Amino acid sequence: MQKMDAIYSKNPLDRLDQTRGKEADFKSRRGLDSSLFLLFNGNELVVHNETMCEFSNAQLKQYDMNVHDSVLLGELEGVNYFAISVGDNKYVATRDDDGNFSDHPLRKFPTRLYTEKNYYPEAKLGILAQAASVLNWHLSHTHCACCGEPTVIAHSGWRRDCPSEACSRQHFPRVDPVVIMLVTYGDQCLLGRGHQFPEGRYSCLAGFVESGETIEDAARRELFEEAGVIGGDTHYLLSQPWPFPSSLMFGMHIEAKTQQLKIDYHEIADAMWVDKADVIKVLNGDDSFPFQLPPSIAIARNLLEIWIDG
Ligand SMILES: [Zn+2]
Repeated sequence: MQKMDAIYSKNPLDRLDQTRGKEADFKSRRGLDSSLFLLFNGNELVVHNETMCEFSNAQLKQYDMNVHDSVLLGELEGVNYFAISVGDNKYVATRDDDGNFSDHPLRKFPTRLYTEKNYYPEAKLGILAQAASVLNWHLSHTHCACCGEPTVIAHSGWRRDCPSEACSRQHFPRVDPVVIMLVTYGDQCLLGRGHQFPEGRYSCLAGFVESGETIEDAARRELFEEAGVIGGDTHYLLSQPWPFPSSLMFGMHIEAKTQQLKIDYHEIADAMWVDKADVIKVLNGDDSFPFQLPPSIAIARNLLEIWIDG
């Protein structure tokens, strides 16, 4: 994986969109001995014996987990992948008896790839993001937004249908677009601190895209709202699925027209311009500066690395 590739951006699955509406085909795939299931407890990935997170039908049966309401993620090299939310499963009791299951917060999970055991290939991390995001959507869309009836899972897990004949509305998984900005002025870039950040941590400014807005306009608007800086030329650089719960990050580059800061302290805790030379030192491990940079899971890190690589 190159620096340009954001974590979660690689997903090798054929998503099998053409088969989702075929219920018999879905059930047939789900019942295969070779099929693999990713389990999530809320936003946390279920791992067995500290290493294994892809479960077979035989293992699910052994642990007394049902496969109803599973989502067909796709197919890779003849193996079908599914995602299941285990919150309402017997899993919780099973875990207590077994003691060999653990839940891994997905947000921290990929960084372990580089420091501890290699739990999951980097080239497949996008599958985890896909599973977490769609399962999160199911958990938060159990009722019809139009009439309030409880909805039912459909279309191999990629839709929820309202059973009310008067309504019959179909609901589809949503993705929330977010812009995150590398803002530069000459050899300096703008870093900001969110109110929830760990002490000393700075990152790129970010914000949700609003209705009827381009990603370029959203990036310049957020920059001005949060830091009072006027943005000029704005370009898209790279994107990252960010399943917390279902965002899609658009990494943007803005060339600032102004440098004077007028920080909105309701939105962010701080912002400052930093020299490229200092960013390079901090990325190389120098901790003598008054700012730390985001971890490798964050697309902000990719944006900064792209900048210093020219
Ligand atoms: Zn309805």
